[in-house]
Amino acid sequence: MSDRIVVVSNRLPLTARRSGGRWHGERSSGGLVAALGPVLEQTNGLWIGWPGDAPSGDTTGRTKLLRQWERDHGFAAVDLPPGVGRAFYEGYSNNTLWPLLHGFPSRVTFDPETWHAYRDANERFAAGVIDRVRPDDLVWVQDYQLMLLPGLLREARPEVRSGFFLHVPFPPPEIFRILPQREAILQGLLGADVIGFQTHEHMGAFRRSLLQILGIESRMDQVEVGGRVVSLEARPIGIVTDEWERLVSSDAVVAKRITDLHARHAGRRLILAVDRLDYTKGIPERLRAFRHFLVSRPGWRRKVTFIQVAVPSRERIPRYADLRRQVSEMVGEINGELGTATWSPVIYLRRSIPRSELAALYAAADVGWVASLRDGMNLVAKEYVACQRDRAGVLLLSELAGAAGEMGEAIRVNPYDEPGSAEALDRALSMPEEERAERQAVLLERVRRNNALVWAERSVADIARAGRDPGQVPGSVPVPPVTEIRRAFRSAARRACYLDYDGTLVPIAARPSEAVPSAAVGEVVGALARRRNTTVVIVSGRSVLDLERWFGDLKGTWLAAEHGALLRPPGTDEWRPLRPGADVEWKERVRPVLEHFAARAPGSTIEEKEFSLAWHFRLVEPEFGDWLANEVAAALDQQLAGTELAVLRGNKIVEVRFAWANKGEVVAHVRSLGETAGFELAIGDDRTDEDLFERLPDDAWSIRVGPGSTRARYRLPDPAAALALLATLGVSTRRTH
Ligand code: UDP
Repeated sequence: MSDRIVVVSNRLPLTARRSGGRWHGERSSGGLVAALGPVLEQTNGLWIGWPGDAPSGDTTGRTKLLRQWERDHGFAAVDLPPGVGRAFYEGYSNNTLWPLLHGFPSRVTFDPETWHAYRDANERFAAGVIDRVRPDDLVWVQDYQLMLLPGLLREARPEVRSGFFLHVPFPPPEIFRILPQREAILQGLLGADVIGFQTHEHMGAFRRSLLQILGIESRMDQVEVGGRVVSLEARPIGIVTDEWERLVSSDAVVAKRITDLHARHAGRRLILAVDRLDYTKGIPERLRAFRHFLVSRPGWRRKVTFIQVAVPSRERIPRYADLRRQVSEMVGEINGELGTATWSPVIYLRRSIPRSELAALYAAADVGWVASLRDGMNLVAKEYVACQRDRAGVLLLSELAGAAGEMGEAIRVNPYDEPGSAEALDRALSMPEEERAERQAVLLERVRRNNALVWAERSVADIARAGRDPGQVPGSVPVPPVTEIRRAFRSAARRACYLDYDGTLVPIAARPSEAVPSAAVGEVVGALARRRNTTVVIVSGRSVLDLERWFGDLKGTWLAAEHGALLRPPGTDEWRPLRPGADVEWKERVRPVLEHFAARAPGSTIEEKEFSLAWHFRLVEPEFGDWLANEVAAALDQQLAGTELAVLRGNKIVEVRFAWANKGEVVAHVRSLGETAGFELAIGDDRTDEDLFERLPDDAWSIRVGPGSTRARYRLPDPAAALALLATLGVSTRRTH
């Protein structure tokens, strides 16, 4: 790893503080600092972020300190004016984006002022990066406070590779779309080369938002925007497992605390919860479930103690102050109602606690209980497992936390289900040791393996790779070497050429019916197909009818209609389906959906082919048409999830067809029939042709016609150039064959 890493996050891991008239830096010890430390050190990297409020008055000492940080430690400070900082952080970030991204629309506050501050702050961070970044750096932007930054950076420094990681969830589009600035936020993110998420679920929700809000289609892990490819990755963050394990196994202070805890709570089982005091953590819900447990199972009373650590957070926001009051009241109620003179059911620690105390609690607790109503990951779950080591406590884990995806051996709970949670707690406390040990061993192994250092390394590698993919840099794809291609063609024993139609053999026309092939096209393709041992396949999205009309007489070529769903082999008049017996009964269910939308958009039409249905809206008022198309695509996408059908959003068209009906399958089919060709060439101009390129071996001659990012090795400007190349191959210059 040699490229310099530039990490950008809202907070620097250092805060500038004044005490006794002197300025000094106070380090924070979060997981991110530990995770990023090694990659930053290895590459002599830079961390850019906010160093805490600058007080009014003389700040010479502070300025000096910040300069020294940058020079000596690679921590570069971006200052925010106090008004901007507060509206940006508490306002838009924590009162708008936080509840929205966690899927709590009713808690979202919309305030245009805070949006301006958010934009302003992102611009200031961007300026901080732009001032310092070098062309070979890898910039890695962290989290929801900086979602506009990748776009701003891309505008100013398009050559710089960048990644973004979202630590919190991404909500379903039905929720995300209520954000007035939804387009700007999505566009901002798309400035990055790689966007990382905690889970595939968050990533899928993001993709659906792209489709529904911007009309941008994506593949499983890629989005194409403005001739660039943005990669999407699910990269769950981990913890620095070693550090927690070391605390428990060899720190004397921690060992003493563990002994004290055991002594203090002898004869009782300990249940532990550790959270920031945040409404996403499900603290009241868990207290209610715990009360339910004690009331419904009186046998457990005086035999368990529930320790709730709640770290104060964002206390200037009223909603958080309300929660704090509510939790204190509930704890008081439970202890007052069910406690005895010698036993308090709940021990409530409402403060931040040192790591040594936390590690001891994790190590001593028989049950770790995570009840998040929604959580990007939840590191507490992983820390609990790490600190248990070979002790076999049980993790009760909310199925709504990102961690649930990776920690299948935990007992999963729905935190909204009060009796269900009480029952799960009972199960955890009653679980035989052997089963506990088995589950813990598997969890521990996974927490060790997918640790934070691995996460950081992989994420950085994703960004580095993104920049190296030649397909990503527009204009960098070379012109095909015609002489070399001709030589290869001539010397091969067998040849195969796959030719797209629209945009490749003929220019795109305003109306599809006008894109009729000239006489020259028939001659060139015909001549090519007459060469000996040469397979020519015209592979198009067009219907059988169109291809028959234009190429019916070319008996020496293969014809592939509807992206390959239907094939006509050479020398026959017969069309046959690529997958015989494919059932098209689904058309009866999809047609009414398309008709419903067509009725709302005069001028739009439905086209039915044998294996597909499409809604065309070229004549609809563009803005309305695009909006409706996003709606159609999103509605169908959901209805068809899990079927073998795919919804494709093309140029003024939304099409539903079999996922297997793609041009790549045609290559596979033709190859499976004959000997492997010694020479393979494919030419195409749009996304559906990328499937073709993808299926070919690396040394095949793949050519993209026109602009756009591509997997093809070469690029030609237009159909005329493509035809000229094919014409030279069709001419036999020697009498060798
Ligand atoms: N933590 C802390 N101080 C405390 C208690 C906990 O810094 O007094 C840490 C804890 O070790 C964990 C983090 O706070 O690493 C909480 O991370 P999590 O992903 O569970 O939730 P978040 O607070 O990020 O939403």
